Amino acid sequence: MLRFVLIIAVVLSSATALLAQPLKIASLNTVMADLASEVGGERVEVADIVHAGVDPHLYEPAPGDWKRIETADMLLAGGLGFEAYLDRMRPSLENAGVRVVVGGDVIRPISGACENHSKEGHHHHGVIDPHWWHSISNTRAVVFQIRDALIAEDPEGKAFYEVNAEAFDRRLVALDKWVRLQVVLIPKASRVLVTSHDALGYLASEYGFEVLPVQGLTKSSQPSSQQIAQLIREIKEKRVKAIFAESLENPKVLEQITAETGACSAGSLYADGVGVGVASTYEGMMKHNIGTIVEALK
Ligand SMILES: [Zn+2]
Repeated sequence: MLRFVLIIAVVLSSATALLAQPLKIASLNTVMADLASEVGGERVEVADIVHAGVDPHLYEPAPGDWKRIETADMLLAGGLGFEAYLDRMRPSLENAGVRVVVGGDVIRPISGACENHSKEGHHHHGVIDPHWWHSISNTRAVVFQIRDALIAEDPEGKAFYEVNAEAFDRRLVALDKWVRLQVVLIPKASRVLVTSHDALGYLASEYGFEVLPVQGLTKSSQPSSQQIAQLIREIKEKRVKAIFAESLENPKVLEQITAETGACSAGSLYADGVGVGVASTYEGMMKHNIGTIVEALK
């Protein structure tokens, strides 16, 4: 009997040893969090430090957030200046053994659109656009970056992460095809996106739109009355039919613009990360944004 109990105990303890604790991942970017959940599956536990509904342009880590970040195995960030505090915190986190994975490190950055449409005031020339996820080819590169980081942190899960990343990548290829077929439904001259801030530059360059943002890349400055007047002239000249709001913003300026141009106010887009409901995943966010754009401009 004693021997039997001992055998049971040995079997139980070795089974427990095989069930490793999931990797603890903290994320400052809702898109990065979704990609890590897709690739990591049940081997990871992703904590959204910045979750949908929080404006990431205004967010600064609170002391409680620092604790969750410091005790994680891995920290995910969008990069390219999206998290202004990241460069400050990165060295101490890496010293503390937190692997920092920054999506913007593996994509080819573009600069903001503001210099193209404002004659005075805005000096955003050469400023890097951090909203890389609006181009699916960028997102695919980041999926493989996350796969490699997970394998480095958890080599035993290599095959698991590889299979998941491949499967997710196939879905992203299909999504990219769908986006291109949708965009074709919009007449070429109507492929103009008037948005509240300059967040859709990658979508524009990848899928053939022109962007006319009301605000710059960061939302930190309010447009001057001359800039708004200039934008209104351009909207009239180009006969833009619809203007897009965003989920996290004050729509006052957009209301003025729609009133003065006769353009209609289309639904709102998720610019700074994933949204809620059906848009709470990366794929859902892209489908929502493209669907809203095509519906308004076709
Ligand atoms: Zn933004």
